[in-house]
Amino acid sequence: MRDLKLKLKPGHSKARVWMEPAPLRQLCWNVTYACNHRCGICFTDSHAAASDELTAPEALALVRRADDAGIRDIIISGGEPFVRADIVDILAAMAGRGISARIASNGSLLSDELLDRLRADTLIKSFQISLDSVDPDVYARLHGAKPDALAGVLRAIDRVQERGFHTTVSVRVTDETLPGLPRVLDLACEKGWSTVTLHLPIYTGRSDGAPHQDADALTLLGPVFDHFLRLPERWLVETYIPWAPHHPVLQRLAERVDVVHCGCVAGRDRLTVNPDGSISPCVCLDVPAAYVGNVRTDDLGEVFAGAWLCDVLRRPEAHGICADCEHVRSCGGGCRATAYALSGAVDGQDGTCPLLRSGQASVEAAGHAS
Ligand code: SF4
Ligand code: SF4
Repeated sequence: MRDLKLKLKPGHSKARVWMEPAPLRQLCWNVTYACNHRCGICFTDSHAAASDELTAPEALALVRRADDAGIRDIIISGGEPFVRADIVDILAAMAGRGISARIASNGSLLSDELLDRLRADTLIKSFQISLDSVDPDVYARLHGAKPDALAGVLRAIDRVQERGFHTTVSVRVTDETLPGLPRVLDLACEKGWSTVTLHLPIYTGRSDGAPHQDADALTLLGPVFDHFLRLPERWLVETYIPWAPHHPVLQRLAERVDVVHCGCVAGRDRLTVNPDGSISPCVCLDVPAAYVGNVRTDDLGEVFAGAWLCDVLRRPEAHGICADCEHVRSCGGGCRATAYALSGAVDGQDGTCPLLRSGQASVEAAGHAS
């Protein structure tokens, strides 16, 4: 994801040299396309379950194979993961092998009973609840949900927090959510939520109402960063956007608060498994051009080591991406999902890079057949 995490409470941060060779450490697993909301923006274009989603035995087999591949942590997302009938069994099987989970959910199904069971039987470390807005009408419109849906999800976040899970909310940055972001930050501070994650939508999946892919979102977010800095409690900012250290707004922000550039982990230490078992390096690239295997037939470790697109992510300059830029070994050649959204090629150019926009970097035109 092209994310920024505004962290309010001191805790774990992921500073590391993210372009250095690394083993496969983590999966992101979208367990179903089924969802009880109908958001205009959805990176997996979820609504109904697909007919070829992994069955319950296949899902448990994937847990075993992830364990064999040395994975200790899986991000569980969807669709809405708790629509899937066997999700608690999957999470319990992960726990039985010492594999922790981090959950991305719309929060609408998180009852007291379910959360008690999850606390007792799983190794869930955190929940990231898709909130987007604290205005009931905006929330209902964005989520395709009923007018009282926001009140329900706010109660669910309280329940998550009461049970001691790390509590994060996320916001997709759009023209409609941007003005309400200060109110989301204020509520996060008041409630003691750990983090507000900002997603910059990418035109893969469903993108109704998303700002144009080429928009300079970080400049638009300047006033939101100012508000974050004025909160009575705040810690640091993490960015997961490859070229973020070169953006002037983040450079100015880094003079006022710790900014940790975490970069892009897709294909570098993480793979994504889609509901039908297809494997993509990046969670925003659930598109055939980015499939590098399928867990029904392929070994996770072999895919990670040998897939062409993983090599593109690790050695972009060897594939003609940003080969002339002096920062390519620290940046990684931009965001592959944005490049796909802009050019239609997963090895195309991420034209949103601020150095390219300002003419401070030039690259040979990329965009090879993929
Ligand atoms: S390619 Fe990397 S930076 Fe781009 S959306 Fe995927 S994980 Fe995020
Ligand atoms: S030109 Fe490419 S490698 Fe250089 S900073 Fe921009 S996206 Fe990164």
